[in-house]
Amino acid sequence: MSNIYQIAIDGPSGSGKSTLAKGVAKALNIMYLDTGAMYRTCGLAAIKKGIPCKDVDKVTELMNTMDLQIKFIDGKQHMILDGEDCTEMIRTPEVSVAASDISSLTVVRTKMVDMQREISKAQTFVLDGRDIGSNVLPNAKYKFFLTASAEKRAERRLAELNSRGDFSQNYEEVLRDIEYRDKQDSSRANAPLVKVDDAVLISTDDIGIDETLNTLLSYIDKEDI
Ligand code: C5P
Repeated sequence: MSNIYQIAIDGPSGSGKSTLAKGVAKALNIMYLDTGAMYRTCGLAAIKKGIPCKDVDKVTELMNTMDLQIKFIDGKQHMILDGEDCTEMIRTPEVSVAASDISSLTVVRTKMVDMQREISKAQTFVLDGRDIGSNVLPNAKYKFFLTASAEKRAERRLAELNSRGDFSQNYEEVLRDIEYRDKQDSSRANAPLVKVDDAVLISTDDIGIDETLNTLLSYIDKEDI
């Protein structure tokens, strides 16, 4: 394949973006960038240093001093914070909330968006996040926006946490966190979660991952497959 193109998959927490993006990457043999993992790593960095995620001055200093690197090992994205692989550490409920808080700051978004554009320009990538189609890559060749009810998304998030051996939250707590993040991610001033007009809307409430993947792939031109 000679042409480079990008696929943007946006949507709220638990809408199935990352599962779908991984499926797309595999089916099309392209790279996958999980942008949420980048904000999660920023959130973890703040937690580790005891910095409140909404303290602009302290977070600005953190952004200027932390060493955040992304490595792709056998196609899997690893997040490296100050030399330490924190890929698994960033999946806790505490880090989820910190990621949502810290990602509302412009100083954080500017740095992450620059990295996302730099990484995805040299190769064909599928990226998932909140603002890929609207802000990071407004010229992406393909744009999708996933939705599902908060209840359905909470069920999925709980199952995902439990499958990793994390039983720290019950369903109500997961739902509360999802609703908190939805509100914050949709209402922030800088690049809020929004469906752009040229994104294909896919509801994942009642359809499984295989069907959703097939729907999404049906929008991809044959020459890109
Ligand atoms: O997708 P994930 O749940 O891992 O993202 C964690 C948090 O990072 C989100 O709640 C959101 O606040 C933030 N985020 C963002 N923009 C992106 C990806 C994630 O603001 N492109």
